Amino acid sequence: MRSGVSSFAVDLTVILGPMKSGKSLELVSLLSPLQYTNARHRVFQSARHVRDAGVVSRSGAALATVKATSLATALDEELDVVGIDEVHMFALTDMVVVRRLLERGTRVVAAGIDLDHRGELFAPVRALLELGPASVTYRRAVCDRCRSFSAVYTQVLEHGVPMIRELAPSTALPDDGTYTYEARCRTCVVLPSSAARQAAADSSAN
Ligand SMILES: [Zn+2]
Repeated sequence: MRSGVSSFAVDLTVILGPMKSGKSLELVSLLSPLQYTNARHRVFQSARHVRDAGVVSRSGAALATVKATSLATALDEELDVVGIDEVHMFALTDMVVVRRLLERGTRVVAAGIDLDHRGELFAPVRALLELGPASVTYRRAVCDRCRSFSAVYTQVLEHGVPMIRELAPSTALPDDGTYTYEARCRTCVVLPSSAARQAAADSSAN
């Protein structure tokens, strides 16, 4: 074990929560010391993420990142630690890559939004949890509506109003200005109707 890596006592660390919950800050604080060690490390960010270059937490702390459409390139080099930001924007096949990395002994730290626009787990996040992380941190944000420190959802707004159209499961919506997002608590969130979803499920079962 190369020095500097041993402080990562666990193999898979997952940091989840809605937007504005400080996930990036936690990722930065966990990984930024690595630049002062000889641990071979790389932090990946989805190429679909256009808000900024590198992981920049809202506090201004930054981490150098590689933009990638897939995590497969992480298997091309010997790495001690792999960081993944906005993990929900990656594909299910990328979680197979994470599994391979763990089998090799690579430490993985992944941060992202857990719940999609329907309030259900993103498929890649579900796959990540199925890998049995040693540590899962659920972070909360301040609700953008009622200001309680209990937001667990990321509300999708379309032209300023809650989007109640239901898209395909796990659709990762672009951060390019098409939609706006708010952190919301269970009381303030407006999700696509669960009744409509149940009706669709019933009709497809028949
Ligand atoms: Zn609220």
